[in-house]
Amino acid sequence: MGATPTLPGAIGIVGGGQLAWMLAEAAQRRGVALVVQTPNPHDPAVALASRVVQADVRDAAATRQLAEQCLAISFENEWLDLAALAPLEADGVRFLPSLEALRPLVCKRSQRELLQRLHLPCPRWFGLEQLAAGTAADTQLESGSPEQLPSPAADGAVDGPRQPALPEGFAYPLMAKLASGGYDGRGTAVLRCDADLQALLDQVDPAEWIAEEFVAFEQELALVAARDQAGDVVCFPLVQTHQHRQVCDWVLAPAEAGHALLQRARNIAASLLTALDYVGVLSIEFFYGPQGLLVNELAPRTHNSGHYSIEACSLSQYDQQLLTVGGAAAEAPQLRVPGALMVNLLGFEARDADHPEASYPQQRSALAALPGAHLHWYGKRGSSVGRKLGHVTVLLEQTDPQARRDEAMDRLEQIRRIWPLPPAPNGAAAQAAEAVHGA
Ligand code: ADP
Repeated sequence: MGATPTLPGAIGIVGGGQLAWMLAEAAQRRGVALVVQTPNPHDPAVALASRVVQADVRDAAATRQLAEQCLAISFENEWLDLAALAPLEADGVRFLPSLEALRPLVCKRSQRELLQRLHLPCPRWFGLEQLAAGTAADTQLESGSPEQLPSPAADGAVDGPRQPALPEGFAYPLMAKLASGGYDGRGTAVLRCDADLQALLDQVDPAEWIAEEFVAFEQELALVAARDQAGDVVCFPLVQTHQHRQVCDWVLAPAEAGHALLQRARNIAASLLTALDYVGVLSIEFFYGPQGLLVNELAPRTHNSGHYSIEACSLSQYDQQLLTVGGAAAEAPQLRVPGALMVNLLGFEARDADHPEASYPQQRSALAALPGAHLHWYGKRGSSVGRKLGHVTVLLEQTDPQARRDEAMDRLEQIRRIWPLPPAPNGAAAQAAEAVHGA
């Protein structure tokens, strides 16, 4: 190794999907060299990257090669093998955010623990292994103030298999989540009764799952924030996100939020970023409703809810990542237009790379022709049902919040006439979630 010279000021990104692709677009615009580590030469970011280390994203030896060419490295997703990366950091490889900052963010369980440690609001939860341990009535909950698991329900089932009893204060429905590796609803299961819970416990390793209260939210909100190496924190506008079958369907910027709510969201972001000594972009997903603002999930990276910033803000979330990871000051983003609607384009028909129509040419040109529309097509090979293939952002003109919402819903309808939502999957978890949310 060592034959490949360092590119001055180059930034490395582990991952080659659409987030890396949009980062590469921003890097090209700014004249920043971007080196990508990804196994698949057809991944979206490869065509735009300055250089590519072709290797699996979890291949730490390849990440070392990447580091030899770059000033700093960040990641496209949070499924990291921290133990494998630690020796690289010890040898001086600059990961931004640092591995220490990423450690609590790589799984949903440690995220919940972090939020509790910082007294930041999140849904109440418990580790499923505590139910499997079962009947150990004296097992303590990990969440909040330690409570005791109740004794198995006195329902007369003395001789049969013992039903897992829910911890005190919890009731169905519950949302069970795979702690690591889940995304877009893959790795979640709605539990509506003891039988659902038992079925899950029979199928999975309970140590890898958490369960949490099912939140009766009115809206889902999201905030992309960033912290630079000097410790300054800036936030993009708070946005509303809408999920269909647990996958982001559309994003409306800005959210209709009063000053207090906006301030609360920003304070949560600043607390988190500062406590973690985090450098780079971080995204926060919230539930908002009768319980106030609750943090659902943290993503230590750019995020689907921030795509709209490419056209609608003074700088995009990708620009911000390049600035903060590259050692420059974070810039406070401003909306350049009254608002924006971003709609995800998920594959809605089973097609593969051999079919010439796999790239939906007619729908794409119809979307691109809509007024004020900006189409982003990720250029993925093949397109299974439900796969994120692109997104479209339309800039909104109305300044009054209610009029802007109406405008956004009209535009959404227009887009959905061209690009429908994918058909319902067969997965039981997705159907159960739909039944509970009525999505
Ligand atoms: P993933 O990492 O798979 O995206 P999330 O935790 O973000 O998982 O959940 C996906 C979606 O499922 C959320 O956006 C929300 O609509 C719904 N959801 C998740 N957790 C809960 C919960 N505790 N209560 C109600 N709905 C939830």
